[in-house]
Amino acid sequence: MNTLLTIETTPLFWDCECNDNYVHHYTEQACSSCGCERNESPDSRLNEIGIDDILHPHTPERNAHILQKLIDFISEEQMTMFVQKIISEEQ
Ligand SMILES: [Zn+2]
Repeated sequence: MNTLLTIETTPLFWDCECNDNYVHHYTEQACSSCGCERNESPDSRLNEIGIDDILHPHTPERNAHILQKLIDFISEEQMTMFVQKIISEEQ
């Protein structure tokens, strides 16, 4: 029996082998710390992606799509923080 929890991944981010800050935006080709390359690394799971990852300056039009999916995973506090950051960047 397959007991693995199925967690949705996104091709917009990928994981390197670092213990911290291992989520990279898909526009990054490689991790400068561990040397992992995007092409050889797994897609990130939605629940691993942090607010700072979403606020990556590239392709903001896709952020809304990711945020929509993240609603199930992040707390209300994180969501508030996220919205406040977006608002402050637009001013
Ligand atoms: Zn790394």
